Amino acid sequence: MSKNLTTRSEDYSKWYNELVVKADLAENSGVRGCMVIKPYGYAIWEKMQAELDRMFKETGHQNAYFPLFVPKSMFEAEEKNAEGFAKECAVVTHYRLKNDPDKPGKLIVDPNAKLEEELIVRPTSEAIIWSTYKGWVQSYRDLPLLINQWANVVRWEMRTRLFLRTAEFLWQEGHTAHATRKEAIEESEKMMNVYADFVQNFMAIPVVKGLKTETERFAGAEETYCIEALMQDGKALQAGTSHFLGQNFAEAFDVKFANAEGKQEYVWGTSWGVSTRLMGALVMTHSDDQGLVLPPNLAPIQVVIVPIYKTEEQLSQITEEVNKLIADLRKLRISVKFDDRTTQKPGFKFAEWELKGVPVRIAVGPKDLENGTYEVARRDTLAKEVKSKEGIAAFVSDLLEQIQADLFNKALNYRETHITEVNSFEEFKEVLENKGGFVSAHWDGSAATEEKIKELTKATIRCIPLDGVEEAGSCVFSGNPSGRRVFFAKAY
Ligand code: AMP
Repeated sequence: MSKNLTTRSEDYSKWYNELVVKADLAENSGVRGCMVIKPYGYAIWEKMQAELDRMFKETGHQNAYFPLFVPKSMFEAEEKNAEGFAKECAVVTHYRLKNDPDKPGKLIVDPNAKLEEELIVRPTSEAIIWSTYKGWVQSYRDLPLLINQWANVVRWEMRTRLFLRTAEFLWQEGHTAHATRKEAIEESEKMMNVYADFVQNFMAIPVVKGLKTETERFAGAEETYCIEALMQDGKALQAGTSHFLGQNFAEAFDVKFANAEGKQEYVWGTSWGVSTRLMGALVMTHSDDQGLVLPPNLAPIQVVIVPIYKTEEQLSQITEEVNKLIADLRKLRISVKFDDRTTQKPGFKFAEWELKGVPVRIAVGPKDLENGTYEVARRDTLAKEVKSKEGIAAFVSDLLEQIQADLFNKALNYRETHITEVNSFEEFKEVLENKGGFVSAHWDGSAATEEKIKELTKATIRCIPLDGVEEAGSCVFSGNPSGRRVFFAKAY
């Protein structure tokens, strides 16, 4: 098959969109801003879900499900949260259609079916969940409440991109309630660390852990922790957020508990989420001009075997040999596909599996049968080698681990060489324009400066890195005193 992909250097954005579609991950739908996730893309998302779900349960969380709709009065209760999301809410006002008396075959909204109270399609579920928690929490013995929900949410985004920003997206949202401020802060930090662990060790994407500035903070949170990743074009991507909600939602929904002394107190809260945006991060971090590059941990197919043959007899001899290898690989829990389609030539198959990012390809022909060998190719480096069939399954298993580690190190190396310290606004602009990546600079802590810098350069403060050191300096823009550097970048 001919791939005809736009290359990254030609047009990174176009390369991304084409790749997502051509590799069969997702496509745009007939609904504005909403995508169809195709089976191959969904299989990757399912792998992410399974691992995250395991990690959430290991840290004591349970899954539950809450409604898609939130009555407007409930939505309004936490004012800051409502105000923050108001501009991107889909609202249900009616519950029935009827035949259009003027146009046969057409439907109109039935004006007699107007809802007494509008329903908001959840952009996030704090309101509905905290209104429920009121009934679940009476005493300190009911705490902590550690709940996660896998769901879809809707945010009426104006500029959408497949996976990275869609109007409807899939995510998980954790919502926890605690007896003390300290415990809730520990929970928000713990979940940021779970996300960082998952994204780095499972997705092979290095991240910076940090705090959001007040401007970038989640509406209704006291503190937002985040993990920020860097894409190959030097733009940053928010990969996950974890919010310390203080007592804001407990106060808004009157969620109180009797402490050990019998005194009534408001509950402390957190919420945290990652979304299908992570699929975009995956593509943009590892893939190349030949197509997807998938870390073995997330690849729906880890090994593809392609037979090279001329005659039926050769195919049946190869199949017999390959079946033994498949059994050995499956014993090692490696997912393997034998591409014995007779309708396509090997060259077509090679190109297709390259496009789809299968980490390891094994080719086997009549010569290999004679010599007792296989040709093993890595998708990430495109390197090929001929290996003896003795011990091949163990070799492939080690190779998959090596590829996982190499992908992380390659991305880490890119990230490390794309964090640049600057000390003047001239330098700041120069680095942003010509190099991209994270620009580490002093900032005076004011929202006005942050806004002005964004206006002039399109760069936002991605985070105040948690591992940053205290360092006296002066703001790169205003010259006012600053106690530490923050990371600026242009972002998705
Ligand atoms: P938030 O509730 O705003 O903290 O977002 C939770 C998670 O969803 C973060 O990881 C965001 O990066 C991600 N996210 C926010 N908006 C979108 C969107 N329109 N499409 C996909 N993911 C999103």
